[in-house]
Amino acid sequence: MSVTIGTQSRPLRVAIIGSGPSGFYAAESLLKNDTIVAEIDMFEYLPTPFGLVRAGVAPDHQQIKSVAKIYDKIASMENFRFWGNVQFGSDLSREELLDTFDAIIYAIGAQSDRSMGVSGEDKKGSHSATEFVAWYNGHPDYKDAQFDLSQEKVAIVGMGNVALDIARVLALTPDEIAKTDIPHHVQEQLKASKVREINLIARRGPLQAAFTNTGTKEIPDLEGAVAIVDPEELMLENNTAQTLTDSGDKKMVQNFQFLESISSNEIDPSKRVIRFMFRKSPQEIVGGDSVTGITMVTNELFTDDEGRIHHTMTEDLETLDCGLVFRSVGYKVRPVDGIQYDAKRGTVANVEGRVIDADSGETVRGEYVVGWAKRGASGVIGTNKPDSIATVEKLLEDLPQWSGDELVKPQAQTIKELLDGKNIHYVPFEDWKIIEKIEHEEGKAREKPREKFVTIHEMISVIKSEKLD
Ligand SMILES: Cc1cc2nc3c(=O)[nH]c(=O)nc-3n(C[C@H](O)[C@H](O)[C@H](O)COP(=O)(O)OP(=O)(O)OC[C@H]3O[C@@H](n4cnc5c(N)ncnc54)[C@H](O)[C@@H]3O)c2cc1C
Repeated sequence: MSVTIGTQSRPLRVAIIGSGPSGFYAAESLLKNDTIVAEIDMFEYLPTPFGLVRAGVAPDHQQIKSVAKIYDKIASMENFRFWGNVQFGSDLSREELLDTFDAIIYAIGAQSDRSMGVSGEDKKGSHSATEFVAWYNGHPDYKDAQFDLSQEKVAIVGMGNVALDIARVLALTPDEIAKTDIPHHVQEQLKASKVREINLIARRGPLQAAFTNTGTKEIPDLEGAVAIVDPEELMLENNTAQTLTDSGDKKMVQNFQFLESISSNEIDPSKRVIRFMFRKSPQEIVGGDSVTGITMVTNELFTDDEGRIHHTMTEDLETLDCGLVFRSVGYKVRPVDGIQYDAKRGTVANVEGRVIDADSGETVRGEYVVGWAKRGASGVIGTNKPDSIATVEKLLEDLPQWSGDELVKPQAQTIKELLDGKNIHYVPFEDWKIIEKIEHEEGKAREKPREKFVTIHEMISVIKSEKLD
C-alpha cells in the first residue's frame, strides 16, 4: 500500500529541537498550513520553554518578553506536544528521532560564545556575555556562576544590544532592579555591587556600532547612571561622515543622534558612568590570576573600493584599568552529537535551512534548521518568523519525495514510552504552566513580574506538589 504523508490518516510527523522563537514559528508554519496535516513534538532541554525570550532578553525589557503569549497560543494548537526537560543528543538521539519522525527541525539557537582570541581571556574576572546574561536571567545552568561585583571598573567588549543590556543591568539602582524578574539571589548581588564605571568598547567607529534603539532608549532615563562619550570620538573621518550623509540608514542615524545627545553629559560622582569608547581593539587582558586591566590598540578606519568600512591598527596602545571584563563579540552553535556542524560559520551546516553533511556538502534527508542555529546570531525575535517559514517551505518542497510504502515509520515506540523507558522526567506544556503560575504568584508577593525558579529540581518538585494538592 502506498502512503501519502501529510494527510489526516497519515500526518507528517516533525520533531522540533528547541523551544525558542524559531522553533515556535516553525511549528506554527506547519500547523497552520492548509495543504498538509502535521503533528509536532517539540523537545526542549529545560523544563521551561521560549529560549532566549526567557533566558536572554534583558529583564528590564518585560514588554519584549511578552511575545511568549504568541507562543502560548501555538502550544495550544491541536497536534502540538511539548516535551520539556529533554535534551537532544543525550536523552534522545538523532537515530531515535529519525526512527519515529519524518523530519527533524533543529531550533537549538547559538548558545556558545566566541572568544576574542587575545591572551588573558581565561583570567579570573574575564567572562563571556553568555554567562552573565544567563545568570541574571535565572538559567539553571548558570545559577552558581560567580562575578566579582566588588570591582569598581568594568570593560564590556562589543557594542551590540547584548553589550548594552549588560551595561544597563550593571547600572540599575535597587529600585529599578526590584521591578524586573531578575531572580532574588542575583538581585541581592546586584544591589550590593560596587561597580562605578562601565566601559563599552567597539573596534570600529560610532557609525558602525551594532546596537539599536532597543538597547539605548532607556539609557538617558537610568536613575543611577550617566552615559558619556568623548565628543572627539564623534568627529568622523571624512569617508565615514559621508557614509552618514549618504546612508539613509535609520539605525545608523539614530545611533549617532543618541551618541551626540550624551556627548555633552558630564560625570556625576553620585552616579555610575557608562562610557562609550570607539576604534579600540583589545590586545591582552592583563593581571596576575585575576584581571586588572585590558590593553587596547587604537584603530583607524578606511573604506574599501566597494564602500565597506574596515579598520587597521595603529601603534597606539593603552591599558584601561578594570577588574571585570565581559566579552560580547558573538555567539555560535554549541556542537551536539548527531548534528552536522559548520565550524567556520558557527552554525548547523545547512543550505537555506536544509541540513547538509559538513564534509561532503550533500543534503541530509529529512533534517532542517531554523533561527540562530541556521543563520548565526543575528536578528531580533521577529526575524525568526520569516526565517522559519522559509525553512518549512523547503521541507514541504521535499515532502512528495518521501511518500511511499517503504518509508512508513513503524512507530514501534511512542515518545512517551521511549522517555518513560529511560526514566526521564519530561515536562509537558501544562506542567510548565504550573511552574509559571507559581512564579507569577511568588512575583506578585514580591511586587515583581515573576520570581523565577532557578533549579530544575525546584521546578520538578513544584509540579509534583501542585499535582498532589
Ligand atoms: C542577551 C540577548 C538579548 C536579546 N534581546 C533581544 C531583544 O530585546 N529583542 C529581540 O527582538 N531580540 C533579542 N535577542 C535576540 C533573540 O533572543 C533571538 O533572535 C532569538 O531568541 C533566537 O531564537 P532561536 O529559537 O533561534 O534560539 P533560542 O532562543 O536560543 O532558543 C534555542 C532553544 O533550544 C534549546 N536547546 C538547545 N540545545 C538543545 C538540545 N540539545 N536539546 C533540546 N533543546 C535544546 C535551548 O534551551 C533554547 O530554549 C536577544 C539575544 C540575546 C543573546
